[in-house]
Amino acid sequence: MSFSDKVVIITGASSGIGAATAILFSKEGANVVLVGRNETRLDEVAQQCKDPLIVKADVTDSEDANRIIEETINTYGKIDVLINNAGIVRYGGILDENILEAFDAMMNTNLRSLVNMTRLAVPYLIDTKGNIINISSIAGKNVRDPRIVAYGVTKAAVDNFTKGVALELAKHGVRVNAISPGPVKTEILVNAGDDTPWEAFDAFMPLGKVGEPDDIGHLALFLASDKANSITGVDYICDNGVMLK
Ligand code: NDP
Repeated sequence: MSFSDKVVIITGASSGIGAATAILFSKEGANVVLVGRNETRLDEVAQQCKDPLIVKADVTDSEDANRIIEETINTYGKIDVLINNAGIVRYGGILDENILEAFDAMMNTNLRSLVNMTRLAVPYLIDTKGNIINISSIAGKNVRDPRIVAYGVTKAAVDNFTKGVALELAKHGVRVNAISPGPVKTEILVNAGDDTPWEAFDAFMPLGKVGEPDDIGHLALFLASDKANSITGVDYICDNGVMLK
């Protein structure tokens, strides 16, 4: 799967799934655009990529979002793939005092910014007959943990948006797909205050192991490639079998 000369924007590329995905695309020859707020971590990821473009940006900020597209076009002149990966988890159920604050923060990052980035990139993706990959979550499919109901709502909305935009853009030759990971070994849950040891996740997974960021990156490589030319509007679950439970 060669991505040489392809321009791939990855939001949330400073850590976890986004960082691993960016490195994999770079290894396949892509010109990667690394987006995130943490400059130090972006630099660390950049060192593992070949000549990346770093755009330090907050995807929830409209001016920053515009700048991501502008800097990409100014540097490379086109966009082939947009990977909407930036996301946050804020715990809280409906009985929690801060539920609305958490809901607003997640809707803004996980959904609104994804819609905005898609809107801004689409004219360029139509030009290249490119594609979009939205990183969703199995939390948008079923309700397992009441503390992440609001997070699940944002990801269920991502699934619906993915299908709607896939249908709208199909006539332009632009494919839009989603990947829904199960638990993956990143900092997202730790940052949300969950200190469950990874061994406990391993024990719960039918395949006996929690996901690794590369698992998602490899699937993204396939979906973004020409080998997936007939696939659009699909949400791929990548969860070590946990949805079977
Ligand atoms: P990490 O916390 O490791 O990475 C999240 C990334 O999102 C960081 O690079 C962060 O960068 C970026 N980000 C967050 N907010 C913003 C913002 N406002 N502007 C720009 N970048 C932002 O988490 P994961 O790698 O686990 O998460 C990646 C995606 O995968 C998310 O959408 C998440 O919901 C999804 N997912 C993760 C699962 C898991 O178990 N890990 C399971 C299912 C889905 P910075 O701080 O530099 O801005």
